[in-house]
Amino acid sequence: MLGIVEAMEEQIRIGSRKGLELERERDALDLVFWAFVFLPILLFVLEGGLVGISSMTDILSSANRAIALIATSLLMIHLLLVARIGWVEKVLGLDGATARHKRLGKPIVYLFFAHLVISVTHYSLVSGSNIVSGLVDLNLNYWQIGLATIGFVLMIVVAYTSAISVRKRFSYEIWYFIHLASYVAVLLAIPHQFAFGTDFLAQPWLATFYLGLYLFVFASVIWFKLALPIVQSRGLRIQKIVPDLNNTTSVYIDGPGLKGIPYEAGQFFMLRVLTPKLWHQSHPFSVSSSPGEQSLRFTIGSRGDFTSVIPNLKPGTRVIIEGPYGIFSQKTRTKRKMLMIAAGIGVAPVRSLARSVISEPGDVTVLYRVNDKNDAALLEELRDICDQRQHNLVVLDGERFNQSWLPGLSELPDHSRLLELAPHALESDIYVCGPAVWSKSVEQTLKKLNVNKNQIHLEEFAW
Ligand SMILES: Cc1cc2nc3c(=O)[nH]c(=O)nc-3n(C[C@H](O)[C@H](O)[C@H](O)COP(=O)(O)OP(=O)(O)OC[C@H]3O[C@@H](n4cnc5c(N)ncnc54)[C@H](O)[C@@H]3O)c2cc1C
Repeated sequence: MLGIVEAMEEQIRIGSRKGLELERERDALDLVFWAFVFLPILLFVLEGGLVGISSMTDILSSANRAIALIATSLLMIHLLLVARIGWVEKVLGLDGATARHKRLGKPIVYLFFAHLVISVTHYSLVSGSNIVSGLVDLNLNYWQIGLATIGFVLMIVVAYTSAISVRKRFSYEIWYFIHLASYVAVLLAIPHQFAFGTDFLAQPWLATFYLGLYLFVFASVIWFKLALPIVQSRGLRIQKIVPDLNNTTSVYIDGPGLKGIPYEAGQFFMLRVLTPKLWHQSHPFSVSSSPGEQSLRFTIGSRGDFTSVIPNLKPGTRVIIEGPYGIFSQKTRTKRKMLMIAAGIGVAPVRSLARSVISEPGDVTVLYRVNDKNDAALLEELRDICDQRQHNLVVLDGERFNQSWLPGLSELPDHSRLLELAPHALESDIYVCGPAVWSKSVEQTLKKLNVNKNQIHLEEFAW
């Protein structure tokens, strides 16, 4: 029988070395992505891209080629980040990958805009036309350029509708379908690269590199986002629907393929329910069951059009699950002690973690923030688990005052109250899951305590 330290070493590995390794994995991935940008530029320079520049048109031409190469590489990275590729997801988590994807959006649009403006200016200078007729000529005389321009307009629409202030006006589903246009935009731009891209034409292997990258990106999207979920979900059905407290419902999923979908406690899946009205939507839900339990379970709060019909679903309904995703799990754990802080339906992944983490009595503290402990989802289960596993469970119920994430009035600031509730907080990995504003407030408290950011693991239930 393994001791606790050996079990941790063998199964999850903890310690500062693991923290460093996780950081190195992220750095290595970033390095691979940046190589996609630097390699083509290096080749552009080595192949004489900056040699013999003697006129304005030469400057424009060279700058334009470099900008086009950088923009194309960034666009490929942008798509790779959300292609749900297993090894990207394992290192960055879906949150981390999506954050990087978002950061690249605007620079890519600016670079392609610069590419368009310089192309038209260059054409006008060479042909002696003005800018407007240059733009019209290019698009009408060369169908490949016409398609690329349509692609660029689609890209602007996607970028505009992704701006936070605009995005809030659409439902997730409408925003998602608009977002799919970015794949069409990329496809529309390909012909002009291979017909007019000076570097593509002069360096066949550079063209091969990009062709390979395009194929890899599109194959990944089709496999990871479409085919794999269908294949792995064969035979999965809703086994039962069980109402829980606080307007939540637990959905149990079972089927012959379930054993082939290993997940870790704390991870989430995208759930698609195959009924005539719901099949076109997939929504993320954390697993509230733990590995080893017979069925896969999600516990879902009624929030909007999709979640409010969950209680009415019939056992036997087919489902497709995509995932597992996320690093809100022991994968990122580096400490022996753990502090889990949940609010509302954020209890779902915390219940899953609490049941299956490797720990000794007293290593784990669970803080569960609820408005009313008589109406708190999964609370009884959590109590049983914490009793059996000898975790410390503190239910924080009551009203909220003065923007505090803790209940009730107190003279003490939140960070002092947290240390009273969880004295080993500073030497713990801290897992936080709850509504966005509440989670931010917990994060602020942890910052006040100077908790290292690698010790804080947040799961945001938002897109
Ligand atoms: C990683 C993750 C794990 C989650 N786990 C759980 C869970 O275990 N239990 C639970 O009850 N809820 C969970 N959620 C939240 C849940 O996905 C949304 O409440 C649900 O998708 C809302 O759908 P709706 O159509 O009912 O509501 P809507 O009226 O469409 O939206 C209500 C809210 O949910 C957000 N939302 C809508 N669709 C999505 C989507 N596809 N992806 C992300 N956010 C969306 C909207 O921005 C809005 O803020 C999780 C979210 C994320 C991102």
